[in-house]
Amino acid sequence: MTERSDPGQVDTVRAAAAEEGASQVEALHVTRRKAPPHSTALPDAHDTAPRTAAARLLALLHHSGPLSRSSATSALGLARSAMGTALAELDELGLVRTTADTTAASGRGRPSPLVIPAPTAPFVVAAVLRPNCLKVATGTIGAPIAPPRHQPLSARDFEPERLAAIVAEQIEHAIRRQDGVARVCAGITVAIPGAIRESDGFVRSSLCYGWTDVPFGQLMTPLLPNFPLHFDRDSNLTAMAEYRRGAAAGASNALVLTCDGKGIGGALMNAGTLFTGGGHAVEAGHLMVDSRGEACPCGSRGCLERYADGTALARAAAVPTAGEALQSTTPRARRARRRAAGILGSGLAGLATVLDPDRIVLTGFLADLLAAEPNVLPREIHRGSLIARTRGIQPVPGELAEPMLTGAVDHAFAPLLRDPQRVRPTGR
Ligand SMILES: [Zn+2]
Repeated sequence: MTERSDPGQVDTVRAAAAEEGASQVEALHVTRRKAPPHSTALPDAHDTAPRTAAARLLALLHHSGPLSRSSATSALGLARSAMGTALAELDELGLVRTTADTTAASGRGRPSPLVIPAPTAPFVVAAVLRPNCLKVATGTIGAPIAPPRHQPLSARDFEPERLAAIVAEQIEHAIRRQDGVARVCAGITVAIPGAIRESDGFVRSSLCYGWTDVPFGQLMTPLLPNFPLHFDRDSNLTAMAEYRRGAAAGASNALVLTCDGKGIGGALMNAGTLFTGGGHAVEAGHLMVDSRGEACPCGSRGCLERYADGTALARAAAVPTAGEALQSTTPRARRARRRAAGILGSGLAGLATVLDPDRIVLTGFLADLLAAEPNVLPREIHRGSLIARTRGIQPVPGELAEPMLTGAVDHAFAPLLRDPQRVRPTGR
């Protein structure tokens, strides 16, 4: 398993963007690369579109971090009196405070109080299941996610009841670590690799765990009865996070591929909305690139991930890990990298022809492969797709250090950001 970005690289760069001339959202948790201006429209299933001025202010604070009252007023296009009402409402709910600190003021004109999350504002928990580990982190409004806790997973942990218990235990541990802080847990998101039903966490298929039709959500819910529990497909969360805060920002139709070393996932953000097809669209790892190729656990042959994920590259380079395969200078490793990049490029060409993205974002191991073979990938994409060639699309690496966790935190906060008045955090 590889992690492309070091959490230490995370910077709180704020990239402001206007939304329909009214609200403004700034990106947090992005790396030092400047994010382009982008729309703040959000996917339906993960809708945080704020309903009121107070909700818009809370969403702005979440995505930008603390900011001056004057810049918040300007960003949201509110009258000063309306801002006062919104602040009072959020203050009463224990979500937001203003302080005398004026460090966020622009330096011109009158100093402006700083709008910050209240110490009583709730936290959320994000649990991201990977093929060989579980990552759990807490998130608070307007702050970078805490460094995740890693729990290694082995094949014996893949039994559904056992894995549900492990996930619940780690989430409870994360919640207990908040003891002594005057906050409640507003929600939990569990990200699952595979084809899942978001509404109840029913897993239709998760090849890395060998699951078919596993009611994982049903197993988890009784273990965490006091908390709003959400489930989502891991690559959807990555795509949304990169769209909101990273390399997919501003794209009309962004194809995002994910890989933590084993398996390849995909998602498409179309006009600010996650395109899910019948629920399981853009399973990029199982795009057939060789009809007579290797058998795949999905039942097909010659699937993209059999040649282009980290495990496949390590195998082809005859080294133990994907990281070594990316670094090795042996002729075999070089050949393996070029071949993996070429096949990934062919797969992306097929996807580009069907989906016509205006941006292709590669995260995790795939971003590392792009860095290792910066010429092969674009060349193969253009060779295989008239659409991509005409558009001149160049694949770009993701910009977030922890896109899945970031997306999971945002997802857990979504109901609160959508309507702070209606959602009363529960549980502890
Ligand atoms: Zn397959």
